[in-house]
Amino acid sequence: MPLVLDGNRVRDQIKSELQPRVAALTAKGRPPGLAVVLVGHHPASEIYVRGKVKASQDLGIFSETLTPPDTISTGELLALVATLNTRADIDGILVQLPLPPQVDTRRVLLAVDPDKDVDGFHPLNVGRLVANMPGPRACTPAGILELLKRYQIPIAGRRAVVVGRSDIVGKPVALLLLHEHATVTICHSKTPDLPAVCREADILVAAIGRAAMVTSDFLKPRVTVIDVGMNRVENRQDAERIFAGAPDKLAAFEQRGSVLVGDVDPRAMRELSSAYTPVPGGVGPLTIAMLMANTVASAERRSGLC
Ligand code: NDP
Repeated sequence: MPLVLDGNRVRDQIKSELQPRVAALTAKGRPPGLAVVLVGHHPASEIYVRGKVKASQDLGIFSETLTPPDTISTGELLALVATLNTRADIDGILVQLPLPPQVDTRRVLLAVDPDKDVDGFHPLNVGRLVANMPGPRACTPAGILELLKRYQIPIAGRRAVVVGRSDIVGKPVALLLLHEHATVTICHSKTPDLPAVCREADILVAAIGRAAMVTSDFLKPRVTVIDVGMNRVENRQDAERIFAGAPDKLAAFEQRGSVLVGDVDPRAMRELSSAYTPVPGGVGPLTIAMLMANTVASAERRSGLC
């Protein structure tokens, strides 16, 4: 039986380790502060932001959500970010993506004070990641590394294949694996014979955004699979194909009219891997935990506690 890499368990560990650090900061003067900028009404973004605010509250981190309308201009958003940059009670600034089309996302992300950039998206922090210097790391990739380390999955000397080259997941996780001395290959939509490349992996990270695209012919027996994908399947035929033999998932589909699936075929992953992250309950919970960790670390730096 493969080892299930339980993201909820690791999230709870990380949160309990953060609690005394939040208490120490609070005792020293004030709790860590996180500002979340949520522009307009994007249903998925609203759900993500609710999760982030709730996690902050659970930990005793002060959080403030700013909700400008989706008609906001780049200049207005830059002014809002500038105000947050100067506020002493705010240690972390998170601008929830995607932003509306009239807003220049790059300029907004560039405007966030790198010391308050708890998403790790500012080019200065991307540079720190490339150079393996300390700094906030993008939350999902950092969470993946936490998961691998806490389950003592060896990384050094192993072949890692990352499918996906986004700035948010694919590229940063590839760099983090490289810094842990894996031999890393990054694949994307133009990679020829993707299954053959993936079959070389001891650690396979799928960050694609395509439901169950990674099938058994991508998987070397005993591979460790990190399935980052979060895809909602709304088509009955697809749900029945992907979840044949999983009555609980099909019942969930009947009830809700959709079901969540990763980028990796769940049956292939269970049958061939030595360890895998389930969807949901694998990588997802760690993204918010690492955001909390980045916020606490930022507050510690700013208050001189570390
Ligand atoms: P992007 O859409 O930004 O990137 C997807 C990547 O996959 C691209 O590099 C693209 O290649 C590649 N790709 C697409 N189709 C194929 C294909 N057929 N073969 C090979 N490569 C392909 O997505 P993100 O990185 O933002 O997210 C990826 C997935 O992870 C999504 O499902 C997302 O929902 C999920 N996610 C989950 C998080 C969590 O907390 N669990 C957090 C963030 C994301 P190319 O560059 O050539 O176009």
